[in-house]
Amino acid sequence: MKLQYLGTAAAEGAPALFCRCAFCQYARRAGSREIRTRSGAMLDGRIKIDFGPDSYKHELDNGLDYSAVRSLLITHTHEDHFDIEDIALRRPTFAHIPEGEPPMTLYGNERVGERLAGVKSDWLAFRRVKPFETVDVEGYAVTPLEAVHCVSRDGGLWPVTFEGRTLYRSEEALFYLIEKDGKRLLYAHDTDEFTPTDMEFLAGRRLDLVSLDCTNGRLDVSYVGHMGATENRRVRERLIARGAADERTVFVANHFSHNGLLPYGELQALLPDFLIAYDGMTVEV
Ligand SMILES: [Zn+2]
Ligand SMILES: [Zn+2]
Ligand SMILES: [Zn+2]
Repeated sequence: MKLQYLGTAAAEGAPALFCRCAFCQYARRAGSREIRTRSGAMLDGRIKIDFGPDSYKHELDNGLDYSAVRSLLITHTHEDHFDIEDIALRRPTFAHIPEGEPPMTLYGNERVGERLAGVKSDWLAFRRVKPFETVDVEGYAVTPLEAVHCVSRDGGLWPVTFEGRTLYRSEEALFYLIEKDGKRLLYAHDTDEFTPTDMEFLAGRRLDLVSLDCTNGRLDVSYVGHMGATENRRVRERLIARGAADERTVFVANHFSHNGLLPYGELQALLPDFLIAYDGMTVEV
């Protein structure tokens, strides 16, 4: 499987919209790998993962053709991952699609279905997916796992316990295990450290590629919902301890906020056992 990282920043991009912090000023001058657009990836040139507000730029910059994409895996509905207004441009007159072609199917949680209900047409379809229930997507076995994301300490819909704390979920955010031809890829954005149920599910399933949320970069923060370098290292060790990874597993840190971001080389020094994602990077396993 070939995973192409199209956008590798968190919601505000890096440099961030409107930001004048030291990192963002440096990134604007440095260009190249220091410029990161909003999150999204492409698997084997055919399965799109998330569709944020920079997806159109990703299509142009990488010579992609979204008109041929049949499957879109959505992790959650935060705007940097799910631009419903751009997705809705697949409807007639905005897009001309030959008669008889199948619709593009969005796989996602209940909230994705609700948002799509208002624009659903013959050209867009929805399939609700749930944690730990594997679905076939164009010959790939895709299993959603439960992300620790879209959570807060008060309010929200579902109480969940995470590391001894009660939190409330506003939606069932997911991340994806994708398997094909004996290879396994884990795309874990956005999420905090994995739940015990996720770890139990992954135990003994050796992963070839693990892509971890590194929003906080060098920072150690107390809020729940994303990871940084410290948590990434810990998740790697736990996966290895549970037989879900070994020294051949490729680990990638991805989805960076400007707040915890260091120049590319310094970030690589901070996470020597990881590849540091950059816009356009391709990893094949
Ligand atoms: Zn995000
Ligand atoms: Zn900044
Ligand atoms: Zn998010």
